[in-house]
Amino acid sequence: MDLAPGETPRTTRVLLPLALPGAYDYLVPDDLDLRPGDFVRVPLGPREVTGVVWDPLPDTAETKPIDPARLKAVVSRFDAPPMPDMLRQFVDWVAAYTLSAPGAVLRLAMRVPQALEPSPRVTGYRLSGHKPARMTPKRERVLEMLHDTGPELARPAREIADMAGVGTGVVKGLVDAGALEAVDMPGEAPFPEPLAAPDGSAAGASRLNDTQAQAAADLAQRIGQGFSATLLDGVTGAGKTEVYFEAIAEALRQGRQVLVLLPEIALTPQLLKRFETRFGAAPAPWHSDLGQKERRRIWRGVAEGRARVVVGARSALFLPFTELGLIVVDEEHEAAFKQEEGVIYNARDMAVARASLGGFPVVLASATPSLETVVNVQRGRYQRLVLPERHGAARLPDVEAVDLRADAPERGRWLSHRLVMAIGDTLAAGNQAMLFLNRRGYAPLTLCRTCGHRFECPNCDAWLVEHRFRKELQCHHCGTRAPTPHACPECGTENSLAACGPGVERIAEEAAERFPEARLAVLSSDLLHGPAATQEAMAQITRQEVDLVIGTQVVAKGHNFPNLTLVGVVDSDLGLTGGDLRAAERTYQLLHQVAGRAGRGEKPGRVLLQTYMPHHKVMQALIAGDRDRFLEQEADERHAAGMPPFGRLVSVILSGPEQGQVMDVARELVRAAPQAEGVRVLGPAPAPIALLRGRYRMRFLLKTVRDFPVQKYVRAWLGAVKVPNAVRLAVDVDPQSF
Ligand code: ADP
Ligand code: ZN
Repeated sequence: MDLAPGETPRTTRVLLPLALPGAYDYLVPDDLDLRPGDFVRVPLGPREVTGVVWDPLPDTAETKPIDPARLKAVVSRFDAPPMPDMLRQFVDWVAAYTLSAPGAVLRLAMRVPQALEPSPRVTGYRLSGHKPARMTPKRERVLEMLHDTGPELARPAREIADMAGVGTGVVKGLVDAGALEAVDMPGEAPFPEPLAAPDGSAAGASRLNDTQAQAAADLAQRIGQGFSATLLDGVTGAGKTEVYFEAIAEALRQGRQVLVLLPEIALTPQLLKRFETRFGAAPAPWHSDLGQKERRRIWRGVAEGRARVVVGARSALFLPFTELGLIVVDEEHEAAFKQEEGVIYNARDMAVARASLGGFPVVLASATPSLETVVNVQRGRYQRLVLPERHGAARLPDVEAVDLRADAPERGRWLSHRLVMAIGDTLAAGNQAMLFLNRRGYAPLTLCRTCGHRFECPNCDAWLVEHRFRKELQCHHCGTRAPTPHACPECGTENSLAACGPGVERIAEEAAERFPEARLAVLSSDLLHGPAATQEAMAQITRQEVDLVIGTQVVAKGHNFPNLTLVGVVDSDLGLTGGDLRAAERTYQLLHQVAGRAGRGEKPGRVLLQTYMPHHKVMQALIAGDRDRFLEQEADERHAAGMPPFGRLVSVILSGPEQGQVMDVARELVRAAPQAEGVRVLGPAPAPIALLRGRYRMRFLLKTVRDFPVQKYVRAWLGAVKVPNAVRLAVDVDPQSF
């Protein structure tokens, strides 16, 4: 670069998608004009990397003075839509909130490197207006078809041939004869425009009942009116989806893009289908199972405003929307919205932040809203719309407890007399039943009857779980697996291994013995490979090719089985042990959701909860169907203890391959913790899984009052300690559990 004396070189800041502190400075070559958000290639050490022009930096950024003589120059700029300002602001916001490196958050928005390359082009053909000298019936068919379906539209030769029912040779012949002309066209499938106007899609739209219509009108009214957060609160089957569809329609009418976040990709196909019925076109899906080509197409489609609606998992929050005008978070209470590794964030909360930054509404839908959200409603920060009843003839099921202290199954059995009778009656009446146990595998613990040896994971502080269908032992934390041995590795005794406790496979074994005539389906993530398999299993149940469903939480959500009238929960107490902050809330939500599988059709449903604690507040709330009282009790307890959402928590987990080194850092941190009003630093204590994937883990918990500046405090605290490379620090602001 040639500079006149006294002239300062142009520089710019570039954020790289790497977990490095801050952005880097680069020189800008004379022939390059860079704008904020441009994607650029820059040198980094010996390599070249792709980054984003991040100039100006946010106030919170750390900057170091730079020596222009040592700066390197930007290599090139991509011919791609720049990252929208709103997304850059959001990346900065998430980084600051979660105490992550901005580059680590940027990486979430740059997972599709191919998206920056120019669109692939293909040759298409359309009518030229010239008649071919020689006409054949097949040629005539092609020309007629093109004439009738849009003469100005270019299509690939293959597509024309297929549409006219001829070979591609006929199309080539027409090109040679000058009747078709070649044009350069995008090589990607276009996005069909969803129909926003209700009249345009009358066939697909449900006629809403009065309550639904009122809620839909309220929501629609908020579109285009700036930021608002609304809890759409209604029992399963009340029609929350139908209602938020109307809000989506209004956003589309106003020319805005829409994002619907789902906790699990298994739910996506269902919603895509319903959406297509309602809007005449499927929205763009976004999740980890998409192929690279499809990811590219959707990323570009969103960036260029051609994709109007995206239905996706939490990572869809980082798509480059330019006209986003509504986010819907369905099943807002779900723990699956929490990303637990890398950048640790709750997509539900970040969705609210994104809406607030962008000045548009967010809708949180749930039948069992989180206490956080309910308290936000009480504080007046969120609005609330209620759909109190199931739509149509469907009624909420009757919930009863089976007191296992009085009706205990015999040894090695897990189904009580009452539950077995109920299943028998249900099957005899030609209906379907479901048994739920939130535990994969055959048995959670395997031990040797002779010497007492227990099978433990070598890398984790956890038992190995027997998976009898696959004949192996598996660690549910790191995935380590080994064939189930015939003899005890400790004492050598053959056939001495005993399974302790039930997993879903063991329940299936008992059910098969008790109901030999029934057609069983066992549904667990181990046995279902991918969303397609899950979808097919659900379809089989709907088609009534199955009488008795036995499943883990895979079966708890979203699916509608009209003929399923009985749900039996094998161990309702499973999630209540362990003393976790959200144990009761999570158990209530899960069991409520499972219970909601019964009686979705016209037939009434019945739910039996097997429990040793029939008087526990969770069971009582489920039996009485009194969710709000449960939430009140829960809120009172948390309030008294200063726990979220009335106080705040941050967890800091240190981990490393050597225990001594981890302890040393922990001691340093104790010394470095600043004194401040409103905060208590608890720990260090062994983390919940003290050895995980070969790393020793210690944890600090910060407990603060609600308005405490936790980010500032933690930054100062952790910044004061030198941490060796082998030790990792994971900060979790607002942890789900501890
Ligand atoms: P939720 O999201 O609250 O669980 P859904 O929107 O999925 O409820 O509705 C449950 C079922 O009832 C769906 O099959 C849906 O199509 C049907 N449904 C809800 N409202 C209506 C309506 N007004 N007219 C026709 N069907 C409806
Ligand atoms: Zn393990």
